[in-house]
Amino acid sequence: MIPDRSTFPDTRTKIASAGREGEERVHETSESWPLGSSERPLRVAVIGSGPSGFYAIAALFKADGIEADVDLFDRLPTPFGLVRGGVAPDHQKIKNVIRVYNRTAQHERFRFFGNVELGRDISVDDLRRHYDHIVYATGNESDRKMGIPGEDLPGVHSATEFVGWYNGHPDFQDRSFDLASARRVAVVGNGNVAMDVTRVLVRNTDELAPTDITAESLDVLRESGVEEVVLLGRRGPAQAAFSPQEIKEIGSLEGASLLVSEAEMDLDEISSSWLEESAAPSARRNVTYLSEIAGAQAGDGDRLVTCRFLVSPIDLQAGDDGRVGRCVIEKNELYAADDGTPRPRGTGETETLDVDLVFKAVGYRGVPLPGVPFHERWGILPNDEGRLQTEPDGDVVPGQYVVGWAKRGPTGLIGTNSPDSTATVKKMIEDIDGVAAPADPDKAPERIVELLRERGVDFVTFDDWNRLDEDEVRLGEAQNKVREKYTDVESMMAAVNRLR
Ligand code: NAP
Repeated sequence: MIPDRSTFPDTRTKIASAGREGEERVHETSESWPLGSSERPLRVAVIGSGPSGFYAIAALFKADGIEADVDLFDRLPTPFGLVRGGVAPDHQKIKNVIRVYNRTAQHERFRFFGNVELGRDISVDDLRRHYDHIVYATGNESDRKMGIPGEDLPGVHSATEFVGWYNGHPDFQDRSFDLASARRVAVVGNGNVAMDVTRVLVRNTDELAPTDITAESLDVLRESGVEEVVLLGRRGPAQAAFSPQEIKEIGSLEGASLLVSEAEMDLDEISSSWLEESAAPSARRNVTYLSEIAGAQAGDGDRLVTCRFLVSPIDLQAGDDGRVGRCVIEKNELYAADDGTPRPRGTGETETLDVDLVFKAVGYRGVPLPGVPFHERWGILPNDEGRLQTEPDGDVVPGQYVVGWAKRGPTGLIGTNSPDSTATVKKMIEDIDGVAAPADPDKAPERIVELLRERGVDFVTFDDWNRLDEDEVRLGEAQNKVREKYTDVESMMAAVNRLR
């Protein structure tokens, strides 16, 4: 459904500002104040409490001369999006960024409404009534498909599911991963998610035990029979998307050997000149490191991580038990696309790998939100530099904005979202420049609270979350780990209510 543009934000009046040519000239009424002033703060609803949402809020609170009331909604009772549900448990330091979000949450004009789902508890129309601006920070909650036969066989999983499962995300707790009978696992993709999945599969479980990995997934990992992870990159080592420190970390894991053959490191001409001329420094560092370790032998009894480059899975075949048993890969060669980027194409030469499990780590993808336009092909919300559009390249939807992966797709590290969200907030502020808003009882902060209460929505405040957070840490301490997460909404809400 495309939002109706007639009422939003046209309830506002443009203040005539001298010297601005072409500016709509409307008289200032006695009931109107500049939108974003202390008399009439900008009322903003942010949907999604991951990094991009928090960075947008921080940018709003920092904006010069702007007073903004921000309500942050999340469908889960817990905040922080991928920092809680995506960042690997053995990368606890990365989670320290939560301290920054906690500081933002201390702001007197900030409120959190967890356990409130757009489309279930609240609609875009409700938000339009009670807020001046809506910011979608909903990320990319699904995964890209490879589009090959056998992709739906038992034993073929997306990295999204596996990562969500071991991180205690409520959406993925019903998944099961037969690690006990697996010996060889293929991980498709050469990004940092492939690195996370590989590390969790081969890392010594005693090292995972003190982290915030869920007790259930740790038990499954302890029983794992995985001996080898084969990393399948469709392009060469020079085009791998993983960060140098991530591949090096795998290379330095206790009890695991990272293997790459010298033949795999034989760079073709396109890669050599690309590395020389246009590749990012990280690509050169990846190649240097992989070349250094190429040809090294596996340590005794080590789990193996074998890097294969220039190969694409083209067929996943079932074994006798009906589960995935073979992965047919096709050898690729690189060609230079119009812009010079090395792209892969199949050579017709194939090879069959026996595999017991396949994890697809080929990228995330957004899911449509009820009442919000969606870019089906790109899996994002259509937008022009953060201003939501009615369709790809369509008109701007006034008062509605996008940040993070929902805006630009699944790229960049957590910190990338800070300048990106700030850029969208800049557009929001440009859009209220000279806009006056009349007094509007629907915009009173208590109205949304009343509405949620009328609907019987048991929303979670930031204080509720802080108590739940402490409780998880307490539960973790009892087991010598940083926290034990609640992994389903029911038990989270039971704890929230008990702790209130
Ligand atoms: P990504 O970096 O885009 O990597 C996706 C990988 O999948 C690429 O190697 C890509 O190859 C490959 N791929 C895509 N389609 C494929 C297909 N059909 N067949 C075979 N391979 C295919 O995405 P990601 O790993 O999901 O990570 C998402 C973002 O989160 C990235 O920016 C990443 O750096 C970030 N992240 C960071 C960390 C960290 O810092 N520790 C951890 C996790 C994620 P091509 O390059 O050829 O397209």
